[in-house]
Amino acid sequence: MNESLDYKQFEALCAQLFGTDEVGEHEWRVREVFELFDANADGALNEEELHRCHEWINATVNPVNVLLIVDVQNDFIDGTLALRKCEYGQDGAEVIKPINRLLKYGRWDKVIYSLDWHPEDHISFFENLGKREVHSESKVTKKSAKVFDTVVFSEPHVTQKLWPKHCVMNTWGAELHKDLHVVPSSEKVYKGQHPDKDAYSAFKEKDVDDTSQVEKILLAIGATHLYVCGIAYDVCVKETCLDGLRLGYRLAVIDDCCRGVKADDVKAAKSLIKKNGGLVTCSYNVLSMVNEGKRSLVMAHNAAKTMI
Ligand SMILES: [Zn+2]
Repeated sequence: MNESLDYKQFEALCAQLFGTDEVGEHEWRVREVFELFDANADGALNEEELHRCHEWINATVNPVNVLLIVDVQNDFIDGTLALRKCEYGQDGAEVIKPINRLLKYGRWDKVIYSLDWHPEDHISFFENLGKREVHSESKVTKKSAKVFDTVVFSEPHVTQKLWPKHCVMNTWGAELHKDLHVVPSSEKVYKGQHPDKDAYSAFKEKDVDDTSQVEKILLAIGATHLYVCGIAYDVCVKETCLDGLRLGYRLAVIDDCCRGVKADDVKAAKSLIKKNGGLVTCSYNVLSMVNEGKRSLVMAHNAAKTMI
């Protein structure tokens, strides 16, 4: 590569990396990535600026792809918190076939399954409302609270949505659905294990060193690209995606491999993921990316933003 690169050259490079269609559709992203790398804003990437740019290109060309499958557990499919009993009436079992197809045909560097994994006395269970004091500032009182309401507890002082009792650790409800393939050398991560702490995001459950199990796995293999799917789209999938994006991963949510609780909330979740730099796509496109080297400028853009 030359010692410096101007915008036209950078644009041509992006067209090579991502294809002319992708660059044509998202020209403003190419411009923004260039401006991010052009630290001194002189309209060209000098040697030092190119060094960072090389890192970005390297991760684009040599992706380390991870499939993160969120909470495909019995309770969300056929159990106490079955999606079909929720407002949207979706069937959680519908994610299994397309996810299994991704597992069978996708070339993954790592597959991670997250599991909601609560003790009997967990704070998120409506059935446990009597166990903790509700704060005076809580709009919903202990007496009036119904399942799916949100209350504010006083000790710990947290805002908490009340779910039906679900995913109690080591019970059938917390097991992964029997039809979901579990691939060898995959990893399982557990969340919401502390009685007083809920965890929607797979990144939320931190170890003593303040890093989550998921982060450790991703760092150990040098993951660059994160593909997220599972249940529930508007709760744990959404929060996992937002954390992954915040940490700088190139991230896509696989729309046809997710099911949610509320129609409006699923719509809002998708917008929020997009707004925060994620790609909302389908499993067909994901297979093109992980098997055939198709690249997403949307995903790369987020990485550039968090690199700088
Ligand atoms: Zn839970």
